[in-house]
Amino acid sequence: MKTILSGIQPSGRPHIGNYFGMMRQMIEMQKDDLVFAVIVDYHALNSVQNAEKMRQFTLDAVIDYLALGFDTEKNVLFKQSDIAEHAELCWIFNTITTVPYLKRGHAYKDAVAKKGEETVSVGMFDYPMLMAADILLYSPDIIPVGEDQRQHVEFARDTAEKFNRIFGKKDNQIFKLPKEYIILDIGTVPGIDGRKMSKSYDNYISLFADNKEIEEKIMAIVTDSDKEIPENVLAIHSLLRSKGELDEIYKKDKGNYKALKEALIEDLKWFVKPLREKREKIASDLNFVKKVLEEGKEKAGKVAKAKMLEIKKAIGVI
Ligand code: ADP
Repeated sequence: MKTILSGIQPSGRPHIGNYFGMMRQMIEMQKDDLVFAVIVDYHALNSVQNAEKMRQFTLDAVIDYLALGFDTEKNVLFKQSDIAEHAELCWIFNTITTVPYLKRGHAYKDAVAKKGEETVSVGMFDYPMLMAADILLYSPDIIPVGEDQRQHVEFARDTAEKFNRIFGKKDNQIFKLPKEYIILDIGTVPGIDGRKMSKSYDNYISLFADNKEIEEKIMAIVTDSDKEIPENVLAIHSLLRSKGELDEIYKKDKGNYKALKEALIEDLKWFVKPLREKREKIASDLNFVKKVLEEGKEKAGKVAKAKMLEIKKAIGVI
């Protein structure tokens, strides 16, 4: 049995990019492997700075996982801030990491290019070290992520290697090196404007969208009018149907963008409906949802505490 870990920020509703890029793989892997699903609220704090919203988004994230069929009996669903060792280990990693190294981060570079360095919080800059801590405390083998997170998993692996080099012994390497798992033909799911679908841009289609949102969003997909195939429509459609089926549909309605968008709307409605209905049921029992988080805290806490003891011995603070 392998150990799998992946995180999602409670920074808004999950979208179909999150689902096909990461969540679906996690749900599939839970059958054979042990899965840690972390709701990374301290990462979200870089952008969600409103207590009500933070509470709501966090509960929402738990409900979302449960609606997708995440099995909390066998696996572990918890929130990052419940386990103090994440922030503690982040600090330890900060002391062995240089500023130029973190400046190579794509997310940091993007933020600087978009809004200027003076707007980047220290938390945002240091994001990869907190993420390395999130991962390495649980000794996972595999991290299912979207293409956008490949570099952050590399950072976690580099940091584990560096720590092992400095503090490990030949016969006692503290950290297992994690490996990212990216579904190559999915990679990055585009949003309705053609950029990466993201909660941070207003370009996403919620995973639990109602019919009205599905219709409005799909109709708003930006298309290139002098082509016969609307690439951005096809990219989302190919998440739902096989290439053979799509070839037929896109051949039949070649150049007819309206008909192709309508075909996607129908498929997406059909895909989302059962998920949305299940979610509504779970959301009506908030006590159960909170209990899931309590249990997750207990299970994750045991693993994190044991690892932290090893780490503290290795660095000599105990
Ligand atoms: P967002 O960019 O919407 O805030 P998160 O940072 O919470 O998303 O990412 C959660 C997970 O979903 C990560 O593993 C990330 O790689 C994946 N993911 C996010 N957006 C996409 C996308 N457009 N396509 C594929 N995977 C994605």
